[in-house]
Amino acid sequence: MAQCKNLTKTDKAKVRPINRATGMIHSFETFGALDGPGVRFVVFFEGCPLRCAYCHNRDMLDMKNYLKMSPKALIEEVHKYKAYFGKSGGVTVSGGDPVFQPKFLVEFLKLCKKEGIHVALDTSLFTSEKVIESVLPYTDLFMISLKHFDSDTHKCMTGVPNERILSNVRFLSRALSASDASNKKVAQQKRGAKSRTKIRFRYVVMPGVTDTKENLHALVEFLHEVKFELIELLPYHTYGVYKWKKLGLKYRLKDMKPPTPKSIQKIKKMLEKEGFKVLLTE
Ligand code: SF4
Repeated sequence: MAQCKNLTKTDKAKVRPINRATGMIHSFETFGALDGPGVRFVVFFEGCPLRCAYCHNRDMLDMKNYLKMSPKALIEEVHKYKAYFGKSGGVTVSGGDPVFQPKFLVEFLKLCKKEGIHVALDTSLFTSEKVIESVLPYTDLFMISLKHFDSDTHKCMTGVPNERILSNVRFLSRALSASDASNKKVAQQKRGAKSRTKIRFRYVVMPGVTDTKENLHALVEFLHEVKFELIELLPYHTYGVYKWKKLGLKYRLKDMKPPTPKSIQKIKKMLEKEGFKVLLTE
């Protein structure tokens, strides 16, 4: 792909996670409505193992400007807004990618769970099975971005191949199915099992890249393989390009236009025909 030529150092992925007990937080959004169900307190973690060419949070990747916070200090921040969560809201950990700071992430999620706060984890799932196992007991909703099904194109667009991510999604799906089966058993014995953890996928529709016939075919095949609640379609947009400019970085996709509403609807209908629940987000 033309966009993969002449990559610079800043386009290359930095895959080694930061394993510290203190978190590096970029910012918060106190009444988030787009990142999970209900009213959300969204925590944006600094750092991400990927370097997506279309990242709209490019300013969160280089670990240069952040707030240092302990898990306790962060949950105290959450407390100020807890009353607004109601029955359906909660905390969304996003970024960057929270799995890039696994040690701090788990400690913070434990505190949320202790207080019965619904937790959504917004991630690319480019991590280890060990990290997935460690966050699983404290996560209610995994919001996983599926980027591309051709590994070379995935590498071109994100800096890393896709095998590890797809294998992790399968691993998570199997783990959730196993825990569902055991919950069912408990439910039969005790009446009423605990609510189960869900998976939502997020898929950016990029004209000529992710909306090709081959890629959509591979997406459908993959979706039939795993268990999930819904898939969210997000049209490619350029809202974050100004951040690249501000950082003095070259934006490789400057010629790409957002998809038309008609093309998004076509993909939505096709996925619904396959039996999947689809959400359209702007
Ligand atoms: S995974 Fe998300 S935060 Fe990380 S580079 Fe890609 S778009 Fe940006």
